[in-house]
Amino acid sequence: MDNILRIAIQKSGRLSEDSLKLIKECGIRFDNGAGKLKTSATNFPAEILFLRDDDIPGYVEDGVAHLGIVGENVSVESDRDVNTVHKLGFSKCRLSIGVLREHEYAGVQDLEGKSIATSYPKLLGKYLAENNVKAQIHEISGSVEIAPSIGLADAVCDIVSSGSTLLSNGLKEVETIFKSEAVMISSKHLSAGQQDLLDQLLFRIKSVQVAKNNKYILLNCPTNAVDEITKYLPGMKAPTVMPLATEGWCSIHSVINENDFWENIEKIRQAGAEGILVIPIEKMIL
Ligand code: ATP
Ligand code: MG
Repeated sequence: MDNILRIAIQKSGRLSEDSLKLIKECGIRFDNGAGKLKTSATNFPAEILFLRDDDIPGYVEDGVAHLGIVGENVSVESDRDVNTVHKLGFSKCRLSIGVLREHEYAGVQDLEGKSIATSYPKLLGKYLAENNVKAQIHEISGSVEIAPSIGLADAVCDIVSSGSTLLSNGLKEVETIFKSEAVMISSKHLSAGQQDLLDQLLFRIKSVQVAKNNKYILLNCPTNAVDEITKYLPGMKAPTVMPLATEGWCSIHSVINENDFWENIEKIRQAGAEGILVIPIEKMIL
């Protein structure tokens, strides 16, 4: 099986939809029949395995899967011997410590001698050791956030995104110990052929990610405003500037970055741009 990549993704959960979407955006087609545990791609030498996310790092370490998509929190906690090859930008969350809302929390030393419920004993243990705090780690596999209110623990260490789950269980977030997003992990024992397929896949993933951060922009402007406007639209190499049928007017085509989009749109409008069209880009090959 030297010339095939086996990619493990979460069967059903918070990572599943975005993992499948990314693979599809990379142009890899497969039959995603409901309830299937394994499927083969029809136009790329790959198989997709659908697993519990906790099992993915172990399968990748053992080489049963060559690649996996998991939360960095799960990958680091598993402590498996795998490579983290790329950050994927979705499922962003943090691992935080929460205490009861009425607790007057002054700092991490307050946790000394307390019991903390978590599904992440290794990450929490490392954080406590780094902060010279001795606390009792109470490992539970789910519904961690109810532990303080039922008297099981004094605090929790759990995954947070908006913080609403903590709030609705009478808790407040007091420390962030780890920031996470979905990552691609790979086996350390890929054949040359598999490494080549991984490189092809990473090239596609990066093209999809860059495209998401950029938009195609077209606009009209007076010819004497071209220099000012193109300062804000450098494009991939340089913007395309074409004369319009109307004397003294031009059309500019370029790409614009999502991060400073509104700021730059305002500047080019003030410089005289009209009829601005902004269009999503599907793939961007740099
Ligand atoms: P499984 O049944 O596969 O074991 P699970 O219940 O352990 O699934 P999920 O809740 O689906 O896991 O979460 C999977 C990953 O998604 C987490 O490890 C984390 O990286 C990320 N995640 C968890 N909660 C959130 C959230 N609220 N927002 C964004 N990402 C999250
Ligand atoms: Mg899990």
